[in-house]
Amino acid sequence: MSLDLRSGACLTCGPDQPHRSHLDGRLRRCLGCGLGWTVADPTVPATAYEEDYFTGGGYDDYFLPAPRRFEAGRRLRWLSSVVGPSVLVEAGCAGGYFLEAARGAGFTVTGVEVSRVAAGFAVERLGVPVRQGYFERVAPSLRADVVCAFHVLEHVDDPRVFLRAAREVLTPGGWLALEVPNIASAAANRLGHDWPGLQPEYHPWHFTPESLTRLLTATGFAVVRRDTAVFRYYMPPRYRLRHARRLLPRDWLDLRSPRLTHPRRGDLLRILARTPRDTRSG
Ligand SMILES: [Zn+2]
Repeated sequence: MSLDLRSGACLTCGPDQPHRSHLDGRLRRCLGCGLGWTVADPTVPATAYEEDYFTGGGYDDYFLPAPRRFEAGRRLRWLSSVVGPSVLVEAGCAGGYFLEAARGAGFTVTGVEVSRVAAGFAVERLGVPVRQGYFERVAPSLRADVVCAFHVLEHVDDPRVFLRAAREVLTPGGWLALEVPNIASAAANRLGHDWPGLQPEYHPWHFTPESLTRLLTATGFAVVRRDTAVFRYYMPPRYRLRHARRLLPRDWLDLRSPRLTHPRRGDLLRILARTPRDTRSG
């Protein structure tokens, strides 16, 4: 992670746009678009998502089939509301469960994954094709109608570089499906440092609906659909029931609604964006 990138200015709004301290100085927030970035703390080593991610153990949950397949099914239904079976690349595919679901629905899939453990799991256990490496580096050899990146953009060195790489992969009119934590969520405001989506030691970037929309526009995408969901949205029904007493009242308060999705207030921000249909300029 380049320190320069996060010290001075908002990625989208530039050096003339003021920014302020947020969460006792742990973050900076742009006053123009709301984008947040983690202030590098020299006493706390940053933990990058890289080749050895997942090798330390303790990630068994991450590869559990039932919750991951439930999550994959929800994401696939969301994506399928705008695009049918076609060629799909998932950046940061982790254990490959979304690729498995998309392939089952008729998509031709390829994953890109930095972590050797996760990529190996996807290939060996689920039998989905995955290229091990950084998406930004693998991208020039890929072509797709859909690029998905769920919980990737908040980890990358430079989101602009990532998004431009995605744009180059996509065919004209191609779709980009993103999900990131929403620092403008009701729970993020209520919980501050304790909000589970914050993870400043892992996340250099903290997006809001407005800041991600502006960043996408600046990198050549048009946002077509945007909403948010609470964490509970991805929990399988049995788990949701078991934790209902703890989670339901909070979600109700946060969203002011019994639904699990909301235009702005949920923990997770989802965006479907599109490249221009006729030309591939820029
Ligand atoms: Zn900004």
